[in-house]
Amino acid sequence: MKTIGYAAHSADTPLVPYTFERRGLRADDVAIDILYCGVCHSDLHTARGDWAGTVYPNIPGHEIVGRVTAVGPDVSKFAVGDTVAVGCMVDSCQDCDRCHDDEEQYCRNGFTATYNSPDRITGDNTLGGYSKHVIVREAFVLRVPATLDVSRVAPLLCAGITTYSPLRTWNVGKGSRVGVVGMGGLGHMAIKLAVGLGAHVTVISRSPSKEADASELGADAFLISSDKAAMKAARNSFDLIVDTVPVKHDLNPYMPLLDVDGTLCLVGQVGPLEELVSVPLIMGRRRVAGSLIGGIAETQEVLDFCGRMNILPECEMIRMDEINTAFERMEKADVRYRFVIDMSSLEVPDAA
Ligand code: NAP
Ligand code: ZN
Repeated sequence: MKTIGYAAHSADTPLVPYTFERRGLRADDVAIDILYCGVCHSDLHTARGDWAGTVYPNIPGHEIVGRVTAVGPDVSKFAVGDTVAVGCMVDSCQDCDRCHDDEEQYCRNGFTATYNSPDRITGDNTLGGYSKHVIVREAFVLRVPATLDVSRVAPLLCAGITTYSPLRTWNVGKGSRVGVVGMGGLGHMAIKLAVGLGAHVTVISRSPSKEADASELGADAFLISSDKAAMKAARNSFDLIVDTVPVKHDLNPYMPLLDVDGTLCLVGQVGPLEELVSVPLIMGRRRVAGSLIGGIAETQEVLDFCGRMNILPECEMIRMDEINTAFERMEKADVRYRFVIDMSSLEVPDAA
């Protein structure tokens, strides 16, 4: 199927319109008209080649919401007209212990990412959600709860699940003390989800200007990371810190904030960090951990949780042709709090 998207052709050129072919429908595939796609900082990292291995042309986008237009003969869970979603994965081996345990993100044979990944059958590079249409294996398609405003669901597919998964792994519930470092796309979802789970939530930010928003999103406290006295007063006061900072940074100021047995879970920077001093780890059995998105079952769980609790991301709606400005603003941490592309702003090419 001929379709259109916005692609990066190199690390240092803007995204431009790009016409291409989506693969034909396989027996277990779902064809989706994309209505909305969220803009994740990982899209920017990939398009700009911050991480090794970007294959160009690259079409980013892994927070996809759309409507089913066709299904293959073996598809049983979805029908034409359903409102569905696709996150960061479109396939995995489905055969290893991790896949059997609903943790396809840790598939022993490597999951297939929604973009910049070889298709398991053809080997073609996958192209993401900054486009009009996508075709995805049924097992990787999610159901969107009818109660949610469809224009605001997209960021749950990456920002939502990536922060929900560590909250669940470390059993966050009523009375848990959670810190969130970095109040951007992931960070603002961490606040809403931790509050929804009953935690006491503190935002730890470089940006004093975000304090009022943090409180509106439900956070109980706000800590400015450069305020040494406030950081000292907050020592030993967290069970879990979710760190969403997207670049190389220093964890040392955050470690003493954890209580004994507390964990700082990295979900932001993928790559080197500043040198870590072991003293707070040893002196308080504190841990540094990491976490990658979440499995398909857990992604459905967070969608359903948000459906029940009416938790929705804060979205700034943009047109597809505003994506390059959106990337520039995201680099400056100037997003409240997730850009979402309204895909009706992108014209479909003639079928010729
Ligand atoms: P974002 O919307 O740009 O937010 C990042 C936030 O981090 C900013 O709002 C800012 O918050 C803080 N920040 C930015 N630059 C900083 C710096 N130089 N030093 C300290 N703090 C800084 O990004 P996002 O979409 O939330 O993504 C965050 C990171 O998570 C990216 O690296 C992305 O690739 C990664 N990611 C990982 C996974 C995973 O599975 N683990 C999934 C999705 C995304 P303040 O203004 O409050 O300080
Ligand atoms: Zn993402």
